[in-house]
Amino acid sequence: MTNTSATSGMLRRCIKCGLPETYETIEFDASGVCNVCRQHEFKKEQIDWTSRRRMLENLIEEYRGKYDYDCLVPFSGGKDSTFTLLHLVKEYGLKPLVVQFNHGFMRPNLLENNERTFRKLGVDAISFRPNWKVVKRLMREALVRKGDFCWHCHTGIFSYPMHIAVKFNVPLVFWGEPSSEYTSYYDYRDDEIEEVDETRFNRYINLGITAEDMRGMIEGDFPLDPRDLAPFTYPPMRDLKRIRYRSVCLGSFIPWDTRGQSALIAEELGWKGDEVEGMPPGLYDYEKIECAMQGVRDYIKYLKRGYGRVTQMTALDIRNGRMTKADADSLVQQFEGSKPPSLKLFLEYLDLSEDEFNAIVEKTVVYPHKPEFSVIHWGKRTHDYDRWYREK
Ligand SMILES: [Zn+2]
Repeated sequence: MTNTSATSGMLRRCIKCGLPETYETIEFDASGVCNVCRQHEFKKEQIDWTSRRRMLENLIEEYRGKYDYDCLVPFSGGKDSTFTLLHLVKEYGLKPLVVQFNHGFMRPNLLENNERTFRKLGVDAISFRPNWKVVKRLMREALVRKGDFCWHCHTGIFSYPMHIAVKFNVPLVFWGEPSSEYTSYYDYRDDEIEEVDETRFNRYINLGITAEDMRGMIEGDFPLDPRDLAPFTYPPMRDLKRIRYRSVCLGSFIPWDTRGQSALIAEELGWKGDEVEGMPPGLYDYEKIECAMQGVRDYIKYLKRGYGRVTQMTALDIRNGRMTKADADSLVQQFEGSKPPSLKLFLEYLDLSEDEFNAIVEKTVVYPHKPEFSVIHWGKRTHDYDRWYREK
């Protein structure tokens, strides 16, 4: 039997964490270890977290008490933003404005978590939900163009809170985890603080499609009011500069520990995890519980790149010394690549057949991966499946 990395199903993988060559920004060194693994070694061994924490304290003192709010916290209600909010309120006694961009697919358990968190912490919160008809049209366009339907969500999550920062004059914005936890767009080794700004927004948030581009793509067949796209457009730099904004990740200043932080918010705030389509039950129930369409997103990634979120999560655990490569392999074998029941609803929202969906995704497959649509079967429904929105 002969195998090369160019044949279907045989992707080259990091010998340490198992991430494949189709992973964004991945590179392998001479010993076969990936750059994300190397970055984590650096994070553990060489970052001076004491001095980073001092930087955080200085930053906070620069803004404390000078505005209507000490800071703004963009908030999905997932583990990272919930921890960020808890940490800033409890450790630093800040008065934050919480801003939530509701992408339209928030699950019942998440909404209950949010309610509990806001009450227990005693914070002011704004929730914003964009026009559903516009959202559906944007999802369809992004899926067709990029094989990634989340454009409205990713742009909205990062741009909408910045509009609120300008409107309310709250210059200090705290995001959660830095992107260097997962990718190499930014590197822990540069020892500079990642700014969550328009450069980052254009580099990897908006898929290379600006709201202006999007307008041109959809206005021919959709009754678009130009203002419909405002929530997905980054605010003008002059406005952000006028308020002297700083937009940073808490995880640039304190070492990010997903599991530890999830346990903490469960204990302090009663935050509850949830099952997620396609994931091993009980093992990662703190992760990506925000969106009813998460299963579809993971499924598309699996079709495009030949790996799913089980691979990604176990890679993280291997790096943090919490799982052996063998255990990870067996979980991947067992859970990765089933068809999520949410796909039925997704196709209904976007008015697509499954064949049309497959044909769209097939155009965005990352070489050398080749998906085999015919062998994939339906996965298990989550407990709240029947409560997700239906178009008909
Ligand atoms: Zn690796």
